[in-house]
Amino acid sequence: MKASFRLGRIAGVPVGVNWSVLVIFLLIAWALAANQFPRSYPGRPTWEYVLAGLAAAVVFFLGLLAHEVSHAVIAKRNGLQVEGITLWLFGGVSELRGEARDPGAELRIAGIGPLVSLLVGVFFGAIAVVLTLAGQRGLLLGSLAWLAGINVLLAIFNVLPAAPLDGGRLLRAAVWKATGDRTKASVVAARAGWVLGALLIGLGLVQFATGFGIGGLWLALIGWFLIGAAGVEERQARMGSALHGVRVGDVMTPQPQTASAEMTVADFVDHYLFAYRHSALPLTEDGRPIGLVTLDRVRGIPADRRSATTLGEVSCRAEDLVLARPEEQLNELLPRLSQCADGRALVVTDQRLVGIVSPSDISRAVQRGSLRDQMAGSRR
Ligand SMILES: [Zn+2]
Repeated sequence: MKASFRLGRIAGVPVGVNWSVLVIFLLIAWALAANQFPRSYPGRPTWEYVLAGLAAAVVFFLGLLAHEVSHAVIAKRNGLQVEGITLWLFGGVSELRGEARDPGAELRIAGIGPLVSLLVGVFFGAIAVVLTLAGQRGLLLGSLAWLAGINVLLAIFNVLPAAPLDGGRLLRAAVWKATGDRTKASVVAARAGWVLGALLIGLGLVQFATGFGIGGLWLALIGWFLIGAAGVEERQARMGSALHGVRVGDVMTPQPQTASAEMTVADFVDHYLFAYRHSALPLTEDGRPIGLVTLDRVRGIPADRRSATTLGEVSCRAEDLVLARPEEQLNELLPRLSQCADGRALVVTDQRLVGIVSPSDISRAVQRGSLRDQMAGSRR
């Protein structure tokens, strides 16, 4: 999930917002201001409903943020890197790099979020009780009661044992602890995610058909998202298992042909292109990688501009290059691969280029690894 704009940093973690968050924000504010509040607390000026609806929606998102920040803080404490937090259509995501070391770390990282949501809910609930005892009956009480309910609901929904929800991670931690097999645990949690997604779609469609309106469609949409995300998690788990123990140096193409950044596109096309067997060309300076040109980028330059354009101008810039070491685990490289180089990484030793890893190198390694996993499975 890409952040459309950055809000800043909390606990050292960059926090961003995707534009889709506006949809759910306005939906919540509107549902409260136009329906729920006027029905429960009639006879007030419109601006009071609008203000209460907007305020409740803002505080709701602060609660979501607290949930995600707690994941991020505990993940950092357990040795994981946190790329950032993004709020979007279905709530928040913390982008963690790497995997929990053991089931205990997984349990702590996944468990803290729902716990924080529960505490936030209880906190607002307690204030609401105090206000009720003090004789308050106004919109403030209504907003607090709604915030209490929605946060408790959020905590409960998130512990449903199905990936990619926090409860799916808890299930994974439990199966991992019981069987000692992380891949199997991930697959079990992902399958559960598929089942929950299907149930939500079914339930949502039934609700919609029986006149509950867009609430049902919303539920079906969440179910559809869960099924997609669960599928991705299962594929990643199987891929991670297939690549277990494989190092970058095992799959890279060693000593690739290189060019200098000053060479013009015309020179390259006329003299090198047909002798060249790969679809990407690293640019080097004294053996150090300074860029990467893909043949697609070269092809994108019109013929009449090729003699005036250098390879350096069409290459991925040095700061966008993905560098790896030969002894690094391939599994640790995968999440770093970037769009710019079409999923390629340059392999360096002492800053000097020694190889290149392309998507086809990776898919070959995955095929071999899955075969190895199958053989190991059939021998068991
Ligand atoms: Zn969470």
